[in-house]
Amino acid sequence: MRKHADVPSATPRTATPGVTKHAANLSVLAPNYNPLDVVLVSGEGSWVTDVDGRRYLDCLAGYSALNFGHRHPGLVAAAQEQLDSITLTSRAFRHDLLEPFARAVTSLTGTEMLLPMNTGAEAVETAVKASRKWGYDVKGIPDGTASIVVASGAFHGRTTTIVSMSDDPETRDGFGPYTPGFRIVPFGDADAVAEAVDETTVAVLVEPIQGESGVIIPPADYLPRLRALCDERNVLLVLDEIQSGLGRTGTTLAQDLAGVRADLTTLGKALGGGILPVSAVVGRREVLSVLTPGTHGSTFGGNPLACAVGIAVVDLLVPGTLQARAATLGSELRTRLEAMVAEGLLAAVRTVGLWAGLDVEPSLGLSGRETCELLAAHGVLAKDTHGSTIRLAPPLTIEREDLDLALDILTKVLRERRAAE
Ligand SMILES: *Cc1c(COP(=O)(O)O)cnc(C)c1O
Repeated sequence: MRKHADVPSATPRTATPGVTKHAANLSVLAPNYNPLDVVLVSGEGSWVTDVDGRRYLDCLAGYSALNFGHRHPGLVAAAQEQLDSITLTSRAFRHDLLEPFARAVTSLTGTEMLLPMNTGAEAVETAVKASRKWGYDVKGIPDGTASIVVASGAFHGRTTTIVSMSDDPETRDGFGPYTPGFRIVPFGDADAVAEAVDETTVAVLVEPIQGESGVIIPPADYLPRLRALCDERNVLLVLDEIQSGLGRTGTTLAQDLAGVRADLTTLGKALGGGILPVSAVVGRREVLSVLTPGTHGSTFGGNPLACAVGIAVVDLLVPGTLQARAATLGSELRTRLEAMVAEGLLAAVRTVGLWAGLDVEPSLGLSGRETCELLAAHGVLAKDTHGSTIRLAPPLTIEREDLDLALDILTKVLRERRAAE
């Protein structure tokens, strides 16, 4: 049976504060988000339903946390089964799934060791701490002097140390004093990284592809050059694959596209199967071994429920069919978006796998936010990044016809806008 997004002609919902349909004027919720005015009550696969019974195609997929769609049956079954045995032990005791989880993820990613955490930010914090401690214990730099080279436009999370790595005023301003020890250089510029590295440098920490920035893809030789530079200068290469990892790019990791292996890789989002937060740092034994008992930890990190879901996530990725699907559907996505550039509806597109950043043609006078509101009014949920850029990252499990439908609606919305000019 053909599924349909509840379609058009309705006036788009406005996002003007105070006149939205659902946003309460006297909300007791802290205002640190400005979500689209859609109140979701259920989800299945690529589809979600709101309180009014309208259905939408989810083309954000929880920023890649829902790579396998909503309530993937295998993942829900793994979680349900685990709920009936044991859910939390803390790391004070062992449990039977932690080692199998670590083996599954390291084997999937071709790495030697795993340290489990919960959220992405915690995984990045863990990578920063491990890199610094490796710098002091192994590389032998003077205590308290470690520097880490990071990239402009990056997004690594929201903790006070992580916002200290950011040059985005919205993310950073008002939260000082900032954690020292970070040097920000332009993304995609390996020469700038080489210049910023000195004898105090313990790590270069970047996203292989910048997600929040609008799916920014660096030059093809960027990661290979960073790998060579890090080898030469005895510096760790740390890749944040929390959004790019686990199938999104058509490969298991984005770094696979460049043929490099980082010393440390952060994973999150999709690792929790859209059910609960699960993150990890995977990488070289020599590096992660510096975090000895008592030096780092997490009450919930690697809990039995997280491990059960994480193992089921890895099981979905081992055959490679979802990665291949992301690549195949991704090339269709690219073809259709490039046609929209040729038609003058989009100014530019950047795609890799089933992941796209698109810049709406400025002459249409639509912000990314307004575009997303129009899309939502027509049954497609997507998210603006900034300016007139929106990101499409549907579940890797999306049906081809549903992807087509989402792109039909995007085309229609932009054509109607152009006709109204
Ligand atoms: C989302 C994200 C994070 C932070 O993850 P949280 O789970 O929100 O803490 C870190 N790095 C990247 C690249 C991300 O996309």
